[in-house]
Amino acid sequence: MYQKTIRNSFTLDGIAIHSGNLSEITLHSAQPNTGIVFRRVDVHPYEIIEAKIDSVSNTERCTQLKNMHGYVVSMVEHTLSAVRGMGIDNVIIDVNGEELPIFDGSATDIAAKILEVGHVQQEVKKTYLHIQQKVRVEHGNSFLEAHPSSMISYSVCFKNEHKMAYLSDQTSNFNFIENDYITDIAPARTFCFEEEVMYLKSKGLIQGASLDHGIVIGKQKIYPNLRFQDELSRHKLLDLIGDLALIPSFHATIIGSGTSHYLNTLFARELLNNLI
Ligand SMILES: [Zn+2]
Repeated sequence: MYQKTIRNSFTLDGIAIHSGNLSEITLHSAQPNTGIVFRRVDVHPYEIIEAKIDSVSNTERCTQLKNMHGYVVSMVEHTLSAVRGMGIDNVIIDVNGEELPIFDGSATDIAAKILEVGHVQQEVKKTYLHIQQKVRVEHGNSFLEAHPSSMISYSVCFKNEHKMAYLSDQTSNFNFIENDYITDIAPARTFCFEEEVMYLKSKGLIQGASLDHGIVIGKQKIYPNLRFQDELSRHKLLDLIGDLALIPSFHATIIGSGTSHYLNTLFARELLNNLI
């Protein structure tokens, strides 16, 4: 198997959910072994922020990366998920500010565009790292663990910790052999609880939020209508694929429950320490 990049550049724009500003991203093809690199094109000279676990600077509500000059890019997880989920190894992602667009809260817009422009197989072989023993991290009642395997598969549980009467725990599974990222994972939207909305707005977050940008879990019901019965755990899985794109490609069986960006990135670090 060989490394892949995108065939043509493309641009997408949309609202950045936390700042409320319009944000634009352009994805470009990249040389073999580049990996995924963000480029802040609103500053001159451009600032490079590598999509690596050591760049993670904040995991509250979304994943934020920072370079050695102090430049940040946040809300990277859905774009990283689409890139990794669509099998792209090398790409440069230009962004004209600190925050990537939220789009509809899912990874569909980016994944569909990657499919539309196509990919190029490059001349350098793709390698997968492995683990030799179980790797596990915990935080409160939440955990993530990896078991040795010759392929990659995910199983992620959303815990109904807010005890909403009409919700229950839900689990989603995904592997790249039996499932299709673009139809099974990319459409799953982000979500928040109605009671959190005012609190987050008062903290200066989700200034651009509306029902066009994700799911709201209300006291009586969820709105708008769900795309999958298990859309919440599918989105948790989407986020996990995105956060694990911050470490090199690997093979393992991943099982998690109650995951968050904090736990995902803690796990990514521990996994990286054990990958050979
Ligand atoms: Zn998310």
